[in-house]
Amino acid sequence: MSGPVQEPDRECHDEALAGVEAREGRRTSVGGLDVARVLPTKGRRTVGAWCFVDLMGPADAEQPDPMEVGPHPHIGLSTATWLLEGEALHTDSLGTEQVIRPGQLNLMTAGAGIAHAELAARPPFRGAQMWIAQPEGTRHGAAAFEHHGDLPEVEVGDATLLVFAGAVAGAASPARTDTALVGVDATLHGTRTVLPADAAFEHAVIPLDGRLKVGPEVVEPGWLVLVPAGVGELPVESQDRDARFLLLGGEPLGEEVAMWWNFVARDRDELEAAWRDWRDRTDRFGEVPSALERIEAPTPPWVRSPT
Ligand code: MN
Repeated sequence: MSGPVQEPDRECHDEALAGVEAREGRRTSVGGLDVARVLPTKGRRTVGAWCFVDLMGPADAEQPDPMEVGPHPHIGLSTATWLLEGEALHTDSLGTEQVIRPGQLNLMTAGAGIAHAELAARPPFRGAQMWIAQPEGTRHGAAAFEHHGDLPEVEVGDATLLVFAGAVAGAASPARTDTALVGVDATLHGTRTVLPADAAFEHAVIPLDGRLKVGPEVVEPGWLVLVPAGVGELPVESQDRDARFLLLGGEPLGEEVAMWWNFVARDRDELEAAWRDWRDRTDRFGEVPSALERIEAPTPPWVRSPT
């Protein structure tokens, strides 16, 4: 190798860490709640099978709007709901009614179709709504719902890891996985910790509280750091006390997903069929036990004249 060694490279113990990239999320609003959408991000649709991450709230104290998301459908994905503050009530077309609190996981798998509603039951409300794309083998299958109230915690260096999906450092979540992946809520008590990472996985680090340094990138809440596959040890640094972040990762999906509205599929025909089934109230998605108003789908932009 020739050429000058640049200063940022010298700080990267692992050469693969030079390949990390920071991306700023997009501000939007869902159900009256401020949201930072950090995935999908420009040029990147998936990290492993993780294909959507919204960070929700906290609600503006001047306008304490509860999160109210009326019945709406999904296909081809699992929704993983993770709260930092507050409580929410999940209802779905399987007949589920489940309250979720911080530290618990709601995992709803859509398969060929499911509908659900969510209501923030106790403000202030703050959390992450994540989607996991289903692989070909399960995405046409049955819908399912899991609630996990007791998830494993493990100390790694100066970090406490709450493992809600997959396994890390010997702690395994009981939650269903359709592809190899990991999902962790990490709190960093010291200034630097090296997290064990599966080198076959690509990863995303998503700050929740405090500023973090991952490889050469420094990021704050509202941002995401993409870590390429090939990294077996992931150093994370912070000057902020009790910095907190999500670590999501997984084997690259290896399939191009098509996403529109609340649907994850492989092409527009599948998306359009799901849109029609919701619009026409076929029995594909079922009824949701919720007093909230049903959310109607917009017309897909590629559909010229709805019939
Ligand atoms: Mn939903």
